[in-house]
Amino acid sequence: MNTSLDVLRWLDLLQSSGYRLTTPRRAIVELMAGSQRALGPIEVFDLGRAGHPGLGLVTVYRTLEKLEELGLIERVHLPDGCHRYLRATHGHQHFLLCTTCGLVQTFAGDNLDPLTGRVSADTGFAINEHWLQLYGTCPDCRSHITNPSEP
Ligand SMILES: [Zn+2]
Ligand SMILES: [Zn+2]
Repeated sequence: MNTSLDVLRWLDLLQSSGYRLTTPRRAIVELMAGSQRALGPIEVFDLGRAGHPGLGLVTVYRTLEKLEELGLIERVHLPDGCHRYLRATHGHQHFLLCTTCGLVQTFAGDNLDPLTGRVSADTGFAINEHWLQLYGTCPDCRSHITNPSEP
């Protein structure tokens, strides 16, 4: 993964979709293209303001919306109903979120055919798309969970 190349590609896409590339918008693109962690709008705002004190929250929301519209970032949903954003995955992948530390990984290879087949038979729907995300505890967080039964 080459982040600086991605930044150029993202800026190019934004510009060719009629989006003016101001310095704060560039800062948001650099943050999102380079982040391995899913970031919420407030986090992007805080991180962005470190280098660009004039950055506004409205700019953050609009730029994130635009990046999502262009398919460059994807929403990661949190159990509390909020969401964060992460650079979009390539191909058919799903997110796996650690609810303890917020780490997001992707996984491929789901077989939902038995489920969609049954739902289709029960409801009469022709099912052609799905959205799936898993929650859990990552290996690192699991190793920090102390087992009370241990001496
Ligand atoms: Zn974790
Ligand atoms: Zn899938």
